[in-house]
Amino acid sequence: MITVDQALNIVLANISRLGTEAVELDHALGRILAQDVCADLDLPPFDRARMDGFAVRSADVAAAPITLQVVGEVAAGASFEGDVGAGQAVKIFTGAPMPHGADAVQMIEVTAQSGEQVVIKEPVTPGQFVTPRASEVESGKLIAEQGHEIGPAEMSVLASFGYAAPRVAIHPSIAVMSTGSELVEVSAKPHGAQIRNSNSYTIASYAARAGAAARSLGTIQDTPEATWRALRDATGKYDIVITSGGVSMGDYDLVKGALVELGAEIFFDKVGIRPGKPTVFARLDSTYYFGLPGNPVSTSVTFNVFARPAIRKMLGDRDPLLPTVRAIAARDIRDSSNRRSYLPGRLNIEQGSALVTPLKWGGSSDLVAFMNANALIIVREDTHEISQGEPVDTMLLSSI
Ligand code: AMP
Ligand code: MG
Repeated sequence: MITVDQALNIVLANISRLGTEAVELDHALGRILAQDVCADLDLPPFDRARMDGFAVRSADVAAAPITLQVVGEVAAGASFEGDVGAGQAVKIFTGAPMPHGADAVQMIEVTAQSGEQVVIKEPVTPGQFVTPRASEVESGKLIAEQGHEIGPAEMSVLASFGYAAPRVAIHPSIAVMSTGSELVEVSAKPHGAQIRNSNSYTIASYAARAGAAARSLGTIQDTPEATWRALRDATGKYDIVITSGGVSMGDYDLVKGALVELGAEIFFDKVGIRPGKPTVFARLDSTYYFGLPGNPVSTSVTFNVFARPAIRKMLGDRDPLLPTVRAIAARDIRDSSNRRSYLPGRLNIEQGSALVTPLKWGGSSDLVAFMNANALIIVREDTHEISQGEPVDTMLLSSI
């Protein structure tokens, strides 16, 4: 049986970024840059006033208080034609370009204007309250590389440098299907041995959070024909197909068999992970398959550990793994498994430190306990005990 790291390496080695497209900046939030972003101009583009006040020659006001002649004014968006000569000042507003000849701004609070005269009450140093041209960014500078996710701050960078239609990676097409003859729709009242299909919603939601919409194709009965047909029909139509259930060793676990029969290449079908050992990763034509185990917590864990990085890599993310945070165990954690365990935990920041509490859970079907997890506590293969107060790695499922 391969380890989690080996399995993840196989996934990442097989998957690559999809093609690219240009999107209007309005629709770029959350997308991943497929081009490098460079400054097309200096920032600021001119020597810029940082305060409302008077643009002056600092040498003139060294002996302040001193009276200067006001020869004009300049607001943001305007410019002052002409020179500020000795003994002169120009009224200026925040964001306006410095008039030629002036080298500093004295703020309005330490001046007194009457008509065409202004008293500058205190001296200024050269450059005071002026942001020099190109002091933030020089034209041509590389600002963000491809593979970088576009958030609100990136939007302002893209807007500032004229990226009206940035090039981003295209979205993978993803299909979700849940196997199990016991499954009924959410709107139905389960009878007898039936249960509601929750995994399709879980997987589609995690996929959406990962930045790619997934289409839910419903449920598949546990017959070889139905399983084979559903998988065959999706082949070539989607970049990724994610199934839940039907990957254990039982007579009704038919997903891997159907993939084999279809001629798929099976990269792995068992991983040293808990929960989620019987996870399948395969490819048939241009479609990748993740066969995730059906117990809801196993589905969630294996999605986040294996399928999410695949989606992020297709999206072009240079860093496709969920972030891990080292936290202090708030309680003793015991785990006898020789597989790597991902245990539901609640991560909090307390007095500036990350603290993680293992949640009580009734095993891999306990989706209600899992609802309160915002992190997975990673207990390595060779670790069986972490004492309260000791550090432990956690994988962040959502923001804290
Ligand atoms: P399986 O992996 O098919 O053996 O399923 C393991 C357990 O997960 C069984 O108890 C199933 O009833 C449950 N299960 C399978 N698929 C789903 C699903 N789509 N939603 C909720 N539970 C499921
Ligand atoms: Mg099943």
